Amino acid sequence: VYNFAAGPAVMPVPVVNQIQKELPSLNGSGMSIMEISHRSAQFDEILQTAKQDLRDLMAIPDDYAILFFQGGGTGQFAAAPLNMATKHHRIAVLDSGQWATRARDEAANLGVTADTVGSSLADHYHHLPHLAAPLAKDTYDYLHITTNNTIEGTAYRDLPNANGTPLIGDMSSNILAQRYRVEDFAEIFAGAQKNLGPAGVTLVIVKKALVHHLAGLPSMLDYDLFIKKDSLYNTPPVFAIYALGLTLKWAKDQGGVDALQARDEQKAAKLYAFLDQSKLFHNLVKPEDRSLTNVPFVTGDAKLDQAAVDAAAKAGLMNLKGHRSVGGLRASLYNAMPEAGVDALIDFLHDFEQHH
Ligand code: PLP
Repeated sequence: VYNFAAGPAVMPVPVVNQIQKELPSLNGSGMSIMEISHRSAQFDEILQTAKQDLRDLMAIPDDYAILFFQGGGTGQFAAAPLNMATKHHRIAVLDSGQWATRARDEAANLGVTADTVGSSLADHYHHLPHLAAPLAKDTYDYLHITTNNTIEGTAYRDLPNANGTPLIGDMSSNILAQRYRVEDFAEIFAGAQKNLGPAGVTLVIVKKALVHHLAGLPSMLDYDLFIKKDSLYNTPPVFAIYALGLTLKWAKDQGGVDALQARDEQKAAKLYAFLDQSKLFHNLVKPEDRSLTNVPFVTGDAKLDQAAVDAAAKAGLMNLKGHRSVGGLRASLYNAMPEAGVDALIDFLHDFEQHH
């Protein structure tokens, strides 16, 4: 089957095969990765290699720390304001969709003032929001953006001009799918379960100079503590980090981020070209703002959408149902989705259209 789920999402076949092969005994040790100590030399090598591979893939400068947390992207909706909104206690949020809204509401929930400085809600998020006015200087601890909007199917190619305010990017759904300059961000975070590996580990890349020792933070969300302990303050998600490491090796074997992006662009272009000429299926997103990784589309008739989802599943094209809040269909085309999967999807949609 081809799995178009938005997350947890398709993993590269060679990675799943390697996990299967190594699961009973890691490197002849007679022990499974699930059984070895996070303080062992074996795990240390896995951790350090994963960090170095990420540095290579994303060109992460040395003055940025690479940290692994639990708690998902949602955990970072809390951790980011707790660690990074400590001067003004005020952040700016570009409201590009539901995950941006969640981040804003979580910050507000923690007592940080979270100003919406641009929103495309009125247009059902069919385009990216722009800053309503230039950001006031020395007012906000950071500007929060969602680089790829998993539900709405938009993504930033050019970053907003934050006017000197640090930028934090939730890159959960297009990390390693699109090239961004890490230096343009104060922090990037991403749940692993789309392009980095299985759920259970969350990546944080943060500029060290902006992280301070703070009293009163929960240890599990404390960036300074996790930098000092190299993400080993407590038991990390050992298996998830191991699988993330294998996924990074695979990404390198594919030629790295630029090669993956070129392939993702090719896959997405094919699907958008089909949708743009289809008389039945439509993608409503403004073309310049379209995501490479999440492609939502509708027929305009909820029953027909559901019939298409069901018929697709029978044809081995899985998990095409749109997010429950927006309905319709959504094809997620992460790095591990082969072009043949997109071809099969287009053939199916074309055929469905002929019969409806
Ligand atoms: N941010 C984005 C862009 C997402 O797509 C998701 C989940 O799909 C999240 C945050 C929430 O992540 P998690 O489920 O890991 O908490």
